[in-house]
Amino acid sequence: MEFLDDLGIKGTLPGAYAGRWLETQGEVLSVESPVTGLEIARVRQASADDYEQVVTAARDAFLRWREVPAPKRGDYIRRMGNALRRKKEALGSLISWEMGKILEEGRGEVQEAIDVSDFAVGLSRQLYGLTIASEREQHSMRETWHPLGPVGVITAFNFPAAVWAWNSTVALACGDSVLWKPSQKTPLTAIAMTRIVAPVLEEDGLGALVSLVVGGRNPLGNAMLHDDRLPLISATGSCKMGKTVNEVVGGRLGRTLLELGGNNGLIVLADADLDLALRAIVFGAVGTSGQRCTTTRRLFVERSVAGEVKDRIVRAYESVRIGNPLDPETLMGPLVDRSAVDAMQAAIGTILEQGGEVVYGGHRLELDSPLKGGAFVEPCLVRAKPGMPIIQEETFAPILYLIEVDSFDEALEHHNAVRQGLSSSLFTNNVRHAERFLSAVGSDCGIANVNLGTSGAEIGGAFGGEKDTGGGRESGSDSWKAYMRRQTSTINWGDQLPLAQGIRFGD
Ligand code: NAD
Repeated sequence: MEFLDDLGIKGTLPGAYAGRWLETQGEVLSVESPVTGLEIARVRQASADDYEQVVTAARDAFLRWREVPAPKRGDYIRRMGNALRRKKEALGSLISWEMGKILEEGRGEVQEAIDVSDFAVGLSRQLYGLTIASEREQHSMRETWHPLGPVGVITAFNFPAAVWAWNSTVALACGDSVLWKPSQKTPLTAIAMTRIVAPVLEEDGLGALVSLVVGGRNPLGNAMLHDDRLPLISATGSCKMGKTVNEVVGGRLGRTLLELGGNNGLIVLADADLDLALRAIVFGAVGTSGQRCTTTRRLFVERSVAGEVKDRIVRAYESVRIGNPLDPETLMGPLVDRSAVDAMQAAIGTILEQGGEVVYGGHRLELDSPLKGGAFVEPCLVRAKPGMPIIQEETFAPILYLIEVDSFDEALEHHNAVRQGLSSSLFTNNVRHAERFLSAVGSDCGIANVNLGTSGAEIGGAFGGEKDTGGGRESGSDSWKAYMRRQTSTINWGDQLPLAQGIRFGD
């Protein structure tokens, strides 16, 4: 495994960075590959004391960084992006090996981190405010944006590199420092990322701008939520986690940026280009083994083409190569661990109890050595009824519900009838249906696509979802505003003191 040597991933690694790697005091975490079930390396996690050192360093780093002109901040981000470019192959391989997505997607994830770095470099010269006409004579008004503070970033296992990059490159351009708590399932990618980008900042003593603590919700996640020194917590993960984050951080009137679970629907109308639709469905349902927040989970198909769509999905599923994610022929790697396989099996049991019919797959797979201990499953296609309660839930596995509908209206109604609101797609050649899907009475999701699938967003757009998905927006467009504080200033350049609304006071 050359990439492990290249990234220095071996033995027991320290799990906290505060401008320098700390001699961490927490419990040792054994990190196993879902591909083989074997240990890759160990991490000594951060203790509560380590956390204190890291957050203090992140705060100190912020106080210096906020005074660095934004375009100069952009120059550091450019160099960090270049450092990632140089390690793209090794890092992409580590992501595959640590969480199971195929190498092509592992590389794509690193590319996403590079792309958002480029975006943040440009952003560093575009942190525009407004000037506003004042109602008072010889007064001017303006709105400016200032750095917010150290941002706490809590990430999920399924995008162990990109989500940190969405947050941290934009936050750094905005003048914030970042304190990262990655998933306990993917600490090695977090350590490798930090090792790649931090030296760019260390050269000028700025290392703690990208600080890191490896550990679980206790004590670390919980400490971050309660910590007034972190004015913003950006959290990516399940809806359950997001509700806790919202409650605790809201309780101290801190800000949250929530990127939570999805339950994404794709509608295929009878007039759709089925070749396009099929490719999008299979990538959306099987990509990252069904463990993307944007994975296609619910498929609504007009009855007249439902049989053909079902048969073509089955044929495509039969040809999906499942195995070692580093093998270029593989299209589907393992789930993140064996407990995810158990959760998928339990969900299939519930589907059957609730009247769903498994049309294809869903079995646990025992592959030959060296993949014997891996967390492999078959993708699963289920013929389902819209009223089945399990359809409300995001089962984080490759289970696709196929639901037949009689019309676009019916599809749209079922589509919007779940608690989550992340990504959505419509396949049609009817411009009226397409425009309606994207209108105020169409999809209720943060992402709505026509004639492409639910997953695979570009970094230029704002990414995030509505309802139980949390309402946050990250990455492109004007998402940067979440990482800054806004200030409205009025300047009186005259020799009178007129009051707003024409109020006269004592004169
Ligand atoms: P998870 O909720 O189990 O964990 C996510 C992170 O939150 C981890 O770092 C975990 O340690 C931390 N955490 C959990 N409970 C916490 C608490 N009470 N306090 C503080 N921290 C806590 O999620 P996961 O299994 O790692 O990831 C899968 C989930 O993430 C799915 O629901 C998926 O849809 C979602 N996700 C959403 C997006 C998005 O942009 N909307 C992107 C990726 C993943």
